[in-house]
Amino acid sequence: MNEISKRVQRISVGDKPQYYRYPDEIREEFIQTDDIEFRDGSRVIATEVWDYLTRVGPVKFPNLYDDSNLYSRRLSRDVTLPFALKNNYLAMTLHDRMTKAKGHPIVFVQGGQSVDPYYAAGAIALRPATTGSWARRQREGLTRNQDELESEAEKQKAYNAISFEICNSAGYEHIQEGSVPADLVAPYTALRCSDVSYGTEAHRHGPRKDDVKLLLVDYPLDHQRDKEWAITYFAENLRRLTRNIDALTGRTTTEDDLAREIKLHNQGRRLAIEIAEMWWSAIDPPTNGQDRRALLGVGGMEGHGDPVASLSILREARRSIEKRVREGHKTKGIRDNAARLFVCGSCVSPNSARTEEAGGIIVGNDNHWSDISTIVNESGEPYCELAKAVLSYPYEQPIAERARWTVEQIRKSRAGGVLFLYKWGCNTQSAIARALVDEIKAQSGVPTMIIEDDMWRTQTEQLQNRVNAFVEMVSEQ
Ligand code: SF4
Repeated sequence: MNEISKRVQRISVGDKPQYYRYPDEIREEFIQTDDIEFRDGSRVIATEVWDYLTRVGPVKFPNLYDDSNLYSRRLSRDVTLPFALKNNYLAMTLHDRMTKAKGHPIVFVQGGQSVDPYYAAGAIALRPATTGSWARRQREGLTRNQDELESEAEKQKAYNAISFEICNSAGYEHIQEGSVPADLVAPYTALRCSDVSYGTEAHRHGPRKDDVKLLLVDYPLDHQRDKEWAITYFAENLRRLTRNIDALTGRTTTEDDLAREIKLHNQGRRLAIEIAEMWWSAIDPPTNGQDRRALLGVGGMEGHGDPVASLSILREARRSIEKRVREGHKTKGIRDNAARLFVCGSCVSPNSARTEEAGGIIVGNDNHWSDISTIVNESGEPYCELAKAVLSYPYEQPIAERARWTVEQIRKSRAGGVLFLYKWGCNTQSAIARALVDEIKAQSGVPTMIIEDDMWRTQTEQLQNRVNAFVEMVSEQ
């Protein structure tokens, strides 16, 4: 198969915008690749994935096949990465799979938390981004613009229901509206996210307060990881969490259930760390920035609502990335000596494709990587070991310590510049951005920049303009 034939082929649909499709020439090779295994023991073979991506997906979700680089929420187009195509398949089938997952309570959780205890108790834990994806996958046949407008309308409902002061990335609108059938709202009260308090308070008085129970998993703040009382207290909160899920399922979650789940999720975390370290070690980036980020997100084991399916993707990805690094693969669209950027801050990232067009590449993010890269000790009492790990997430530590860890990631990823992005209304991250970035700069010497981003699409060009200027500056270092 030559490189040209592997490229995504562009097609026009009448006078509509251009869409892309996966080229028929890669089918034979693709269908020889691994099955996706699921938590319920079922599997999907690569032929079925191919049929979905080429026949079902384009009809159901034309917006995801839109070929514009202006659109950051789109499918991976690197057809030489079978795991990335399977990741697309899992993303597109989220609504269908969740609808079939009867008997597993849906729990709404929020940023930067391990989902091991939720799955140990038989629930499915979904973060805001996944909740939003689920809601979006319920709407079929939309163009990119229609999809964006519908999402924007939903966000406005949430502003009205919660507060104009919020960042509004959290997805509470789907819980309030009942468009995603959550059974429980149960986030950790970690410091990173001010939306947790706005959203949970709104839920306490909201239209679904009687149908969807609220439980706060109380996270003791400020350098509590070495304090015995804090570990005991948080472990008890985790036990309370599984007891509350048990009340929904009618079963009893044991310590063995949690220990097994921790082992499973550790497999994902270890694979994500190995993949990241291989990726960073390569002279030329082995994938583009979008595929790197999507892949490491899979290491959080939550994004597809099925940790076993996530493991399938990670195993295949590890082999693929190892081969690419060994063979010195050059990724299409990435310039030689591209400016390597490390992105700090929650829930926002520049458009990867457009950053690459400008001569940069995003090589790392601190948000979420902080919990993915924290391995839980598998010996000892599982609730306490999980509590110790969660309380030690670098992103939740005091500024000097978070900066030390971030500098270590910047060095490992060989980033030449640091961008701290935060959304308007993200109160914790906006408050600490300056102090953190100053500390990072003092310790690493790399150029840094802070950008505030508006929620959703209104400032896309403004954001990218500044990112591109920063790419130019880092390139000249
Ligand atoms: S942008 Fe900030 S406040 Fe909003 S969901 Fe993300 S972490 Fe929370």
